[in-house]
Amino acid sequence: MEIINTIAALKMLLEPLKQAQQKIAIVPTMGALHKGHVSLIAAAKQQADIVVCSIFVNPTQFTDVKDLEKYPRPLEHDIQMLEDAGCQVVFMPSVKEMYPGAEEWHIDLGNAEFLLEGEFRKGHYQGVTQIVKKLFDAVNPDLAFFGQKDFQQVLMIKKMVATFNLPVQIVSCPIIRDADGLAMSSRNIHLTPADRQHALILSKTLQFVKEHFQQYSIPVLLEKATEMLQSVNGVELDYFTIANGETLLPESNKNAENLVALVAAKVGETRLIDNILLN
Ligand code: AMP
Repeated sequence: MEIINTIAALKMLLEPLKQAQQKIAIVPTMGALHKGHVSLIAAAKQQADIVVCSIFVNPTQFTDVKDLEKYPRPLEHDIQMLEDAGCQVVFMPSVKEMYPGAEEWHIDLGNAEFLLEGEFRKGHYQGVTQIVKKLFDAVNPDLAFFGQKDFQQVLMIKKMVATFNLPVQIVSCPIIRDADGLAMSSRNIHLTPADRQHALILSKTLQFVKEHFQQYSIPVLLEKATEMLQSVNGVELDYFTIANGETLLPESNKNAENLVALVAAKVGETRLIDNILLN
């Protein structure tokens, strides 16, 4: 496995492979890897010849300085995981490499940028699309793999790809969960044992809504879900919604297509998100 720190070295490695018609995939991550990330590498390996995984804790997408500072960075563990997963190239640039100077950046991501996560983390998706665009420029991938765990992120990246007309296919992969249902996340490491128990209400509520989707109307489902989430101590709900999976606007018609339930809550000191497709 090649470990690369600069864009120039990465291009030197990848450009000849691209010219030789090798299919290149990128899996962007912020490190602190878990089985969710590994599932993306596995999916990428199935569809591409060369899999590049980037590890970069991108400062421009953090709206909370404390969250950025305490973001876990277990580098040796990550490298071992990527080696075991059969990843061929790891790209681990410095902040200076990715942001050599001050930048003005704005891309129109449409109304959905400001909903849900966008409402709670102002500017988050400008930061996300900014770094992903830079990674795409460095790697020139045929395919890019993202997790459905960050549902809104996949939408925003698709929008960015369409805006710039980039020749890359975006692949969204299923959410990987622990045996008890908790969606895997690098931030789960910050959960105390009690928080971790409390956090299970997120996936339980989503599962409840999916299982009772035929039985209840959407307003009733929303009421029951909110009750469930608010009944657990230490869980501070940011939002629970049933939305159109394209616009992210709330949907009240059960017969509409592409419905998704999304939740975000602070559990103890840790903010978690999760979602489930409903039809
Ligand atoms: P992150 O390192 O948190 O920025 O995540 C890197 C990529 O892994 C993103 O595309 C995430 O959506 C994806 N990811 C994170 N957690 C999971 C999970 N539990 N299952 C599947 N993909 C995930």
